[in-house]
Amino acid sequence: MTRNDVQPIFILPENTQRTTGRTAQRTNIMAAKLVAETVRTTLGPKGMDKMIVDSTGDVTVTNDGVTILEEMQIEQPAAKMVVEIAKTQEDEVGDGTTTAVVLAGELLKHAEELLEQEIHPTIVAKGYRLAAKKSQELLDEIAKPVALKDKDILKKIAMTAMTGKGAESAKEILAALAVDAVKAVAETEEKNVYVDIGNIKVERKVGSAVEESELVDGIVLDKEKVHPGMPRMVENAKIALIDSAIEIKNTEMDAKISITDPSQMQAFLDQEENMLKNMVAKIVNTGANVVFSQKGIDDTAQHFLAKHGIYAVRRVKQSDMSSLSKATGARIVTNIEDLTKEDLGNAGMIEEAKVGDEEMTYVKKCKNPKSVTLLVRGGTEHVADEIKRAVDDAIGDIVAALKTGQVVAGAGAPEIELAKGLRKYAGSLKGREQLAVQKFADAVEVIPRTLAENAGLDPIDVLTDLKASHQKGKATAGINVFTGKVIDAWREGVIEPLKIKTQAVNSASEVTNMILRIDDNITGNVDAAAKQPQMPPGGMPPGMGGMGGMPDY
Ligand code: ADP
Ligand code: MG
Repeated sequence: MTRNDVQPIFILPENTQRTTGRTAQRTNIMAAKLVAETVRTTLGPKGMDKMIVDSTGDVTVTNDGVTILEEMQIEQPAAKMVVEIAKTQEDEVGDGTTTAVVLAGELLKHAEELLEQEIHPTIVAKGYRLAAKKSQELLDEIAKPVALKDKDILKKIAMTAMTGKGAESAKEILAALAVDAVKAVAETEEKNVYVDIGNIKVERKVGSAVEESELVDGIVLDKEKVHPGMPRMVENAKIALIDSAIEIKNTEMDAKISITDPSQMQAFLDQEENMLKNMVAKIVNTGANVVFSQKGIDDTAQHFLAKHGIYAVRRVKQSDMSSLSKATGARIVTNIEDLTKEDLGNAGMIEEAKVGDEEMTYVKKCKNPKSVTLLVRGGTEHVADEIKRAVDDAIGDIVAALKTGQVVAGAGAPEIELAKGLRKYAGSLKGREQLAVQKFADAVEVIPRTLAENAGLDPIDVLTDLKASHQKGKATAGINVFTGKVIDAWREGVIEPLKIKTQAVNSASEVTNMILRIDDNITGNVDAAAKQPQMPPGGMPPGMGGMGGMPDY
């Protein structure tokens, strides 16, 4: 035998970092739990806010789970998977992002306890899957119906979504506006309600009080007309949407033009002016009297447009361009040469109006009447931003409630009821999965426990009281975070869409299972590996490099 036989074998590139077995699992669970810990203090009406400063120095003050996590730019892969839950929750429901992430953290924490007891991760995963499935049934059982006509319930949903947020002080007014906005765009087909959330634009405007917020029938753009010579108002607007600049394109390369006498210079300028004139003529010929450009509009072009009595706006956001297209029926055109009469859209009226001390453009009486703008006001940039996020949550919740037509009482009530049902279900199971279902039930209680903690209440007292009420059959018993007393959350108007809960349980358990099943972390680039999460003192040893060790469970 030669010495070569005992040399280690490297199957991975040199700068690869690898951890395996329990070490890998612990790292991942730890990282994911850290994500949950981060947002946990923001949960509920008494939750705190976070201030995040990005690399450009922009400050965001928010209570919104998904916003916090997105701004934090988390890198550790398992932690990133948890951030993904928040994003899915945001996309699917529009609210409940903190709930979902906190739940995932707690499910992992309890799973870890089972792993410590030498229960194999696949058993835990199986138990969690069973529990998640059962949860959907149990939540369905406690849900109550809601329809478009239940204005009162819809308003309570909106208010629940905004409780404790920047919008708190004006939540009555904003909730009513949110309900009206949804009602304005909702379409009913037999019993189904269909709401295209894209038809509701929430535009924030700094200056003046939240109470000044209003619902506008149509689209409001935070833009003024480009030229003072343009009309302030256009009736029977024929609208062109152009997503290229109304300018003479600069050539890619720096072209040098040698001019030898002044007349040449004039000829050159005249030529430019003619080109712009032609572009404007092209627009005029289609019969358009309003132009929205996603890019710039040259000064000379502005002048010509004004001369033809055309109302023009430049640098319109892409998202606004598509809203405009939808509302007015206009087709977005890239090349002005291609613009025809058929591409134009219609609106009854376009008007420039002052909001605060800035001009905005109102597009009203649209071809598709189903488009509204909720103009949200706030004293400062940060306040207006946070109010907009709260209003977005409120609208998302109303829409989510109408989509399935089901709502539940909040304030910790559904979680306690769910835990109760799951414990009963666990009793009917055999084998070790039973333990996992029990742990799942314990984990779900993290929501009422955190609501109590964040309100400065004793979580043990609160949970004991809540559980006692639920044992007595009070399925909607929740916590009053201001007094610590048990209340009937339904009667107090703490109401949420069922979808928040089902989606949160589903995605939290899915990501937990995914993380549990990983027993090997291979990072191909050590630079990235250097960004592994910070372990608390006395935590795990750093991961093993190179070939790594054998799984140790
Ligand atoms: P998320 O990002 O998960 O929506 P929130 O900070 O919005 O987090 O908190 C939602 C939680 O707060 C839910 O469990 C909800 O039932 C609870 N909640 C909302 N309003 C009240 C209230 N008035 N009293 C008690 N709990 C409330
Ligand atoms: Mg919320």
